[in-house]
Amino acid sequence: ADSGLGVDYYGLAEDLTDAERDLWTTMRRWVDAELIPVAGGYWERAEFPYDLVPKYAQLGVVGDALVGPGIPEMSVTAAGLITMELNRGDGSFATFHGVQAGLAMRSIAFCGSDEQKERWLPAMARLEAIGAFALTEPDHGSDSVALETTARRDGDSYVLNGAKRWIGNGTICDVCVVWARGEDGQVQGFLVEKGTPGYEADVIEGKGSLRAVWNADIRLTDCRVPAENKLPGGRTFKDTARVLSATRAGIAWSALGHATAAYECALSYALQRQQFGKPIASFQLVQEKLVQMLAEVTAMQLFCLRTSRLAEQGRLTDTMASLAKMNATRKARQVLATARDLMGGNGILLEHRVMRHMADIEALHTYEGTESIQTLIIGKQLTGISAFA
Ligand code: FAD
Repeated sequence: ADSGLGVDYYGLAEDLTDAERDLWTTMRRWVDAELIPVAGGYWERAEFPYDLVPKYAQLGVVGDALVGPGIPEMSVTAAGLITMELNRGDGSFATFHGVQAGLAMRSIAFCGSDEQKERWLPAMARLEAIGAFALTEPDHGSDSVALETTARRDGDSYVLNGAKRWIGNGTICDVCVVWARGEDGQVQGFLVEKGTPGYEADVIEGKGSLRAVWNADIRLTDCRVPAENKLPGGRTFKDTARVLSATRAGIAWSALGHATAAYECALSYALQRQQFGKPIASFQLVQEKLVQMLAEVTAMQLFCLRTSRLAEQGRLTDTMASLAKMNATRKARQVLATARDLMGGNGILLEHRVMRHMADIEALHTYEGTESIQTLIIGKQLTGISAFA
């Protein structure tokens, strides 16, 4: 079941290119050596792992299969494998990476001018510039399409006013992609640079999930950005949605990473833990649980690989991405609950890892569109009837 790459019951590795397989191995080694040993501590202290950023940058893999200056070339599948492995190690660091590459770099790569791409993408790929993506507001999460932050043209600049909530990297970023409503009533994208007066961000304290990545409450008060910082390709909410649709399929890989961690932890624990004079792995009920976990992890792998291959061919639709995200986060939650059960009391201890993943999957279940919202998106496509409002 383990090809040396990790759980691979159906020989997924055979369907990968050499480059994808090598990347998977590199990522797996890095996650085992550098990320897993420190992740629990950062999580418990709710401390952002600044030390890991330059170490991770050395791998040269930040870019999420985007095309643009300074971005390492990789397939969508390779990007998925990176996402999976980072999440197998730690959901917080993986989310930092997801915001950086998946959301912030993607907004610039999809919607930016050539100058904006040249200025930001190479530095962001090297993790020398940190990005954030500010869409959600205190009063608009699932209905972010109704966002209230405004952008008003004033001479050579735009003036932003409003509030944003839950913004990953929002307190530490060099550039924040802010989505605001322009005077034409449409949602538009703006690059707000570090130190811009009128941009104030506070870390949201007290999270019980993804504790080591910092989310911000942001206030924009007459925040003036030069006109050249408007994203020329970010003209309507459709452009924002294009970014989100691409990252949504990535969340399926993230959920797979969490489920893989759960399965690996539970299997090794069940083999080593003795009760009634035998390893608990020898009991039929325990084996049934392990097999169910493997079945879900394997199904998720096939789902994810197919999703990425479709994306590579330009055939992945928004609803296909929604289905992948919805199904994977749902299944990962179940796998994590089973792993926690199999590890008994130790299952609730952070040192045994599963509890951290169990807490972290709750954020994935919600962010980038909740399970219910993904379901309604697919339901609308199936029936032709919108059940949103
Ligand atoms: P709500 O929209 O208030 O939803 C509450 C409940 O109501 C959910 O169960 C939802 O499914 C349900 N619901 C809502 N509408 C309907 C409906 N029509 N039918 C049925 N059920 C419905 N945003 C960013 O812009 N940038 C970020 O970097 C970012 N990072 C995040 C990191 C974390 C850890 C978290 C938790 C969130 C992050 N978000 C970010 C925001 C995230 O995308 C939102 O939390 C998410 O879209 C849900 O919005 P909400 O929290 O306001 O929940």
